[in-house]
Amino acid sequence: MKTLKKLLILVPILLIVTGCQTNPISGETELQFFSDDQDVELGAQYAPEIEKQLGGKILDLDLQNYIDEVGQKVAVVSHRPDFNYSFVALDSNQINAFALPGGHIFITRAMLKKMETEAQLASVLAHETAHVTARHVTTQMSRQIGISVLLQAGAAAVDSGIANQVANFGAQIISLSFSRKQERQADLGGLSYMVAAGYDPKGMVETMQMLESLSDSRPVEFFSTHPSPENRVEYIKDDIYMNNYDKPGMKVGADEYRINVLARLK
Ligand SMILES: [Zn+2]
Repeated sequence: MKTLKKLLILVPILLIVTGCQTNPISGETELQFFSDDQDVELGAQYAPEIEKQLGGKILDLDLQNYIDEVGQKVAVVSHRPDFNYSFVALDSNQINAFALPGGHIFITRAMLKKMETEAQLASVLAHETAHVTARHVTTQMSRQIGISVLLQAGAAAVDSGIANQVANFGAQIISLSFSRKQERQADLGGLSYMVAAGYDPKGMVETMQMLESLSDSRPVEFFSTHPSPENRVEYIKDDIYMNNYDKPGMKVGADEYRINVLARLK
């Protein structure tokens, strides 16, 4: 009997110990009950729903190719180049960008119209890519399951937890919000990716400043799904300085952005 009791206590602990990942951006060990394949499956399952809810794809193949090219440059130098990334522009008036597990990344028409350079575009796509590489969505879902395991004990709690979380995911998908800690990781991870891809890191500072000043006069949906950590612009600037990211000759790409995006959205 005593052994059985010990086992019952041990099972959830074992599940938690085995269900772990190392976050490639922070280096921290985190609870993670989902496999890489499940990230890919979840993303593939819900990408069409996101597309539909946010106005569908912008019907301009050249523009879509340009957005995807910039995104792929960033993804290939990220911590997880093995995911099958896609970067898609959606025909929505919300100012937002999304990342689904497994590498489905979206940016809206309204957001594209507010930016001015390829480096700024790269900064948003890199930020979203970092949410994918750090597996922020399924890490958050795992934390919820972890709590239910501690309360209920055992493998059944993990199974039903995963099922519930996946069911809720469909309903919450548009309003799913990251934590401020995850936002900071996405900023700094994304910054390192855009720099590795050759983009001027000041593009991220400019984008965050632009979004913050916009939010004084209108709702910026990006901040409801990506809550702004304190001193966001300051720590991004500090990170650029500390890592000596700001070197001469980094790509800004104002002309490219005007020709490939702004002129086509008119
Ligand atoms: Zn974010």
